[in-house]
Amino acid sequence: MSRYIGPNCRLCRREGVKLFLKGERCFSTKCSFEKREHNPPGEIGKRRRRKLNIYGDQLREKQKVKRMYGVLEKQFRNYFKDASRIKGVTGTILLQLLEQRLDNVVYRCGFACSRKFARQIIKHGHILVNGKKVDIPSYQVQVGDTVEIKEKSRSNKAIMEALQARTTRGLPSWINLEAEQMKAVFNAVPERTDLPPDIREHLIVELYSK
Ligand code: SF4
Repeated sequence: MSRYIGPNCRLCRREGVKLFLKGERCFSTKCSFEKREHNPPGEIGKRRRRKLNIYGDQLREKQKVKRMYGVLEKQFRNYFKDASRIKGVTGTILLQLLEQRLDNVVYRCGFACSRKFARQIIKHGHILVNGKKVDIPSYQVQVGDTVEIKEKSRSNKAIMEALQARTTRGLPSWINLEAEQMKAVFNAVPERTDLPPDIREHLIVELYSK
């Protein structure tokens, strides 16, 4: 399945939750979800959202998480397969694997205003992991890895603005950022309690376990 190229805000309205796909706009009063939260897109969506059956619920939850992390169907299924092979709670491990993606870590560090922009700067070679260029957005960051902006890219305006906004809003507890050096250490894999409480990952596990 190809990557969605339509309006991002439509996806938030479709999933009924803010997916934070448009950078700073998502934190401002311009966020269209804030204005039209209860109106899913499309003609049918203009009526009240119909009650979903169990399968519909599971499907929507999977779509929501996929879209939040910007992962395609095949990749997402592979994350689930990997998660189910690891000892522990599969749903939590699935989210932790997604959190360890380099594009997500770059976003969480504040080097990018969205995961989409993070993918862009990674592909353009602006990111170093442990001092070496990594241009693969799905690269799995390990505990203790250093993620930084390449020296030549530190004056990039969009990166500087994103970092400024992130440091103002605060950072996740599992990231240790040296903002001046544009360098961060991935200190720990986040616990389930650190991640968005409105994700119902058990529905995704049920869906893929059929
Ligand atoms: Fe979603 Fe609001 Fe961001 Fe648009 S601005 S992508 S509706 S969170």
